Amino acid sequence: MIISSAKPFEEILELLKDEDDIFVIGCNACAAKQHLGGEPEVIEMCQHLEEAGKHVVGGVIPSAACSVASFDSLIEKNPAIKNAKTILVMACGSGVSIISGLAETPVYPSNNTQSLGGRSQGEVVPELCAMCGDCNIYYFGGICPKGQCPKQLLNGPCGGSIDGKCEVDPEKDCVWELIFRKLEKAGRLDLLEKVWTVEEIIE
Ligand code: SF4
Ligand code: SF4
Repeated sequence: MIISSAKPFEEILELLKDEDDIFVIGCNACAAKQHLGGEPEVIEMCQHLEEAGKHVVGGVIPSAACSVASFDSLIEKNPAIKNAKTILVMACGSGVSIISGLAETPVYPSNNTQSLGGRSQGEVVPELCAMCGDCNIYYFGGICPKGQCPKQLLNGPCGGSIDGKCEVDPEKDCVWELIFRKLEKAGRLDLLEKVWTVEEIIE
C-alpha cells in the first residue's frame, strides 16, 4: 500500500487559484483505505471546493487511480469529465501520474505521497519497504532496515537507541532491536554474521 497524507486544503486552493471547472478523481484502493480519496473524501472535497467559490463539474472514484486504462473509461464512469478544465486527483503520485498521462487538462494532487507501507490488524503501517529493487529482507527476519531504520543501516544498530526506542524517532522501536529479537526467536542469529559491503548497500 502506498502511504500518503492529505495536503492542507489551503494549499490545494493555492494550487487551484487560477483554475476552475474542476473534476475530482479519487482512488478506491490505497487512498480510500487511508480515508484520503474514497467516496466520502471525494464528496467532501467537492463540497469544500464549491464553498470556496470553485465550480466542480463532477467526480469519480476509479477502483485504483494508478490503474486506469484510458480517458474514455473515465468518461464512461462520469461523462461530466469532458466539461472539466482542471482535474484534482485524490490519490498517490502514481495515480496522479497515470491520470496526467491520459488527460489533456492540468492535473493537480491533493495528497502527499510518503512511503510504501501496508495495513494489518486494522492499522495503517507506514515505511515498510524502500523499494530498493534487490529484496534481501530475509536476512533481517522480515523487518527491512532499508525501509524502517531512518539511517538505513544494514550492519547493525547505530548505538543511539534509548530503552529500545529509535534515537531519530523516539515514538518508534529501534528497528534493529526488533530484528535481533525476531532472529533470536527463530534461532537464526547467524544471519547477522553477514557483513554488508558498501557495494551491496548502494547496489
Ligand atoms: S530489501 Fe527492503 S527495501 Fe528492498 S525490496 Fe526488500 S523490503 Fe523493500
Ligand atoms: S536507533 Fe535503531 S532504528 Fe533508529 S536510526 Fe539507530 S539503528 Fe536505526
